[in-house]
This record gives sequence, C-alpha cells and structure tokens, in this order.
Amino acid sequence: MLTNDQLSQWDRDNFFHPSTHLAQFARGEAPNRIVTGGEGVFIQDRDGNRLLDAFAGLYCVNVGYGRPEIAEAIAKQAHELAYYHSYVGHGTEASITLAKMIMDRAPAHMSKVYFGLSGSDANETNIKLIWYYNNILGRPEKKKIISRWRGYHGSGLMTGSLTGLELFHKKFDLPLAQVLHTEAPYYLRRQDPAMSEEAFSADCARKLEELILSEGPDTIAAFIGEPALGTGGLVPPPAGYWAAIQAVLEKYDILLVADEVVTGFGRLGSMFGSDHYGLKPDLITIAKGLTSAYAPLSGSIVSDRMWQVLMQGTDENGPIGHGWTYSAHPIGAAAGVANLNLVDSLGLVENAGQTGARFKALMQDAVGTHSHVAEVRGEGLLMAVEFAEDPAARIQFDPAQGMGAKVAAALLKRGVIARAMPQGDIIGFAPPLCITENECAFVV
Ligand code: PLP
Repeated sequence: MLTNDQLSQWDRDNFFHPSTHLAQFARGEAPNRIVTGGEGVFIQDRDGNRLLDAFAGLYCVNVGYGRPEIAEAIAKQAHELAYYHSYVGHGTEASITLAKMIMDRAPAHMSKVYFGLSGSDANETNIKLIWYYNNILGRPEKKKIISRWRGYHGSGLMTGSLTGLELFHKKFDLPLAQVLHTEAPYYLRRQDPAMSEEAFSADCARKLEELILSEGPDTIAAFIGEPALGTGGLVPPPAGYWAAIQAVLEKYDILLVADEVVTGFGRLGSMFGSDHYGLKPDLITIAKGLTSAYAPLSGSIVSDRMWQVLMQGTDENGPIGHGWTYSAHPIGAAAGVANLNLVDSLGLVENAGQTGARFKALMQDAVGTHSHVAEVRGEGLLMAVEFAEDPAARIQFDPAQGMGAKVAAALLKRGVIARAMPQGDIIGFAPPLCITENECAFVV
C-alpha cells in the first residue's frame, strides 16, 4: 500500500485540483486531504480523522455517505449494461424510470427532462434551449440572459458568465457579452437599513425592470436564479421577492430558469425550491441531490410551453442538434432511481424542514447574539452564519483577515466541516438531509 507521503507527493506532482490556489498547493502550503471513506454524515481521511461533513461534500451527498442501496444499484447496472447512448430515441430501463420519477415530482406545468452530467452542462443546455426557442418563435434578437450578482450557475464559458462572483470571472475574460447581472436579493446588505423586506424586494424588481428597459425588452430572453442563493452566500429570498420578480418577467415575456442544483430534491424542506417559494419556471436545473453525487448526473426540466416550441422546431429543422455522449448514462440513472427511492423512504424532505428549523434555532441561540455575528439565516438544511466587525454599525471585517475561513478552520479542528463561502465572511452549513438533531447540536 502506498504511504501517505507518497500519495501526497503524487498529488502535488500530477493532480490539477479545481477551485484551488495552485501555487500554494504545489508548494505544500495548502492542505491535501485524502478522503478514504464515509458513513452517514461522517467522512474519514488517511490521517485517521473522522469529520462531520456539515456541507455534504459540495452540498450534494443528500442521503449521506455509504448507502448500500445505491452502491448495489450502480453495481447491478454496471454488470448488466454499463453504457448505451440515448441519442435518436434510445434509452434504458433506468433512464426511463428516472425520467418518470423526476416528472412525477416536478411542478405540474413541466413536461420533459433532458439529462446531462453536471449542473454546469445542464445550465449550458438551458441557454441553448432558450436561444433555440426564440429562434423558432422568430425572435432572433431576444437572446440576452439576466442573472444576479452572487448567483452561482457553474463555471463553463456561459455558466461561468452567469455566475455573479468575481472569482469565477477574473482573468477568464468573463462574463460573455450576452449576460447581464442585476441586484442580489441580499437583504442583510441592503443600502437603506430602514427598508422592509417587502420594500427591498420591490426595489430589486424595479432595478430588474430598469435593466430590461435600458437594454430593450425585445433583447432579453431569460432570467436565471437559484430559489435561495447558494454559493453566493446561502441567502433565502426576502419576503415577496419571487412574486415581484416574476411579475416583471411576465410583463416582458422573459423566461424564468430556476437553478435548483442545490435546492432540488428536498434541501429547503420542499421537493423543489420552486414549490417552496411559488416560482413558475420555464426550465429547472437539477444535479447534486438527483443522485446524491453517487454518480454524476444532471438534468434540465422543460416546461410544456417550451416543449411545444421545441417540437415545432424539430418539425421545421430536423433533429435537435444537442447531445452529450453521456446523456442519461445508465449508471447515473440507476444511482438516481435508488437515491430518489431513499429520499422518499427515509422521509428526507420532511427531515430537512424539521431538523433544519431546529438546527437554525440551536445556532441562533448559541451564536446569534455574539458581537461579531451579523446574521444566522437559512431555510431547511441550508444555513449560513455571517460575521461582521460591528454588525450594528454595518462595518465588515477587512477581507484580508479571511474571518470566514478562520472560523471554518477552527471548526475543522473540532471535527466539523463547514464551508467558508467564496465572497464575504460567511460560513455555510448544508449537511446531508439525513442529519439528526443530535448531530446538529454537535455542530453547534
Ligand atoms: N448551479 C448551482 C446553483 C450550483 O450550486 C452549482 C454547483 O455548485 C452549479 C450550478 C454547477 O454545478 P456543477 O458543479 O455540477 O457543474
């Protein structure tokens, strides 16, 4: 067996890690944790640490680690048929069953699901479908996409552009020209402290409308948003936000994409964030919780109104020119079927709502009045603690201090993985949806 030192050396010599400070890693200044196993909400590493993973990997291992039901479904599928493609009408029992299970759970006005591999490629699919849709409708100018500052939608060329975090643009020549950003629904950071949540939501909608009017409504194709902001700070929307935004979108015939990569399949205590906050999207992006990350799989759920136009498009132009080799990969689909069955049988959507509420209450009691805690916020099992130098005076810490990262490092020493979010002094918690109240209490 390889020693830890050998593996670490190979790692630093050969492995280009995503979202990593490459130079620090190569010089051995950044951690390299070699993860060996996981069970329930815990992972283990080669140094013998057992850590409570309060971020479920990258908020994706929703059913928890080490579920034999999913492992066995994957193995069975690999033995029977590891791969066949899904082009020109091909399918497998697993992919057809999973499509049915997704559509049974999706909002009623949705029609079909297209399968991809990652949240990023699903959002790329969404943008292509939106452009195709407007071309078929004879509106070739209607192509721009509006996203929010602090939104996260992936890190491809288009999806990295949609993402509204500077880190993902810097030195990559992003965002691309077709992408515009509008205000984040970040009530804590509103300019006018006296403003109510409803007034702030109305103000976000007003700014969106101003942007649409200044660009020309005929040039704006779609608006994309996470029902509750994820990577940009784990921020549930302020009261009235989605109703106000949707009214503007309807007025100018602009499609809505609900990016539910994080919120889909239970994280907020509802099957979808769209159900939770009353969104009526034209496209829903799913990934992470679809398979609990036991295998890579994503999807774009398409509304009936879009589907009708896509069918018209293929009648006029022939087969749709969009597909990945691994679309609807049977192993991913088998993992998805087993995973969604577990989400149901373990009651994880309900647990996310109930245990999430307890988790937030415990956290609020423990740290909510601390002199450097600006806010404890969350919905279901998506929670954040935000720090500030002086919350009452709205003075933030100097970013160079890296306060969020320091707190996350201190938690790690005590056996808990939380995520220092990339922008602001925010630590995020998004544990597996099977977490118990006792485990939440341990985190707190
Ligand atoms: N959309 C949202 C809301 C996400 O949180 C993420 C990833 O965290 C993505 C899209 C991109 O997914 P992936 O990393 O699988 O490409």
